[in-house]
Amino acid sequence: MTINADPIPRLDSLEDFKKAFGLSSTDIVKRRNQVFTSLLNQSKKVSQPNFCRIGSEDLAILFDLYDRIFFKGWLSEILDRSGQKPLSFRLSTKMTRKGGSFVIYRSGKFQITVAVNLLYQQFKKSKSAVIVNGLTCANRLTALQAVLEHEITHLAETLLWTRTSCKKAQFKGMAHSVFGHTEHVHKMLTTDRLAVIEYGIEVGTKVSFGFKGQEYQGFVNRITKRATVLVKHTEGPLYSDGHRYKKYLVPLGDLSPAP
Ligand SMILES: [Zn+2]
Repeated sequence: MTINADPIPRLDSLEDFKKAFGLSSTDIVKRRNQVFTSLLNQSKKVSQPNFCRIGSEDLAILFDLYDRIFFKGWLSEILDRSGQKPLSFRLSTKMTRKGGSFVIYRSGKFQITVAVNLLYQQFKKSKSAVIVNGLTCANRLTALQAVLEHEITHLAETLLWTRTSCKKAQFKGMAHSVFGHTEHVHKMLTTDRLAVIEYGIEVGTKVSFGFKGQEYQGFVNRITKRATVLVKHTEGPLYSDGHRYKKYLVPLGDLSPAP
């Protein structure tokens, strides 16, 4: 029996990186789910997707999973070469604006921090969703993964080319090819907040939309990935305001404000 070491080619450019680690979108979803399930199996504290307990050791477990599942062990191989332990993980309860951060110390050590309180503030309502790096995350663990993926990209870029910036094309190319990220910010945005910013739509907004060639008017009752619009209808179920409505699920981009 022969075994292959699956050597990683030299990574001199973004193109090399993409060749070595780039994945199709289906593959990304599969591997991200694999990380998700493995963390739930291995963690002593994180017992459910909307976890209420987590330790910094869980970030270390997640990192190892990402290293194996997405990078074929390449990240730890480079980190181990230095002999010391150059990477540490921290959960911050004070960070409130960014979901995560990546810091390079003068000593050459790296630290990845995740804003744990920001995660706890999300997903309090059962059906809420959060957008992180362009990915719609349905629970805390998925949001944490998306935050960590961004910070791991910072680490990978630093290990390869000593500098890193998520504002630049190289970083964006890396994060997109490995993780499918379409945005590269440290923010965490709930879908209802995003709907207000991008479309001027919030719960209660009067809207109109087209459906099967007909125009309807109603108001927004809930926002998740799409908006739930209630349209008055004599045969619809009775709602608590005493009116009967039919319910439509409409993509946010298909709604226009109604007079
Ligand atoms: Zn960044």
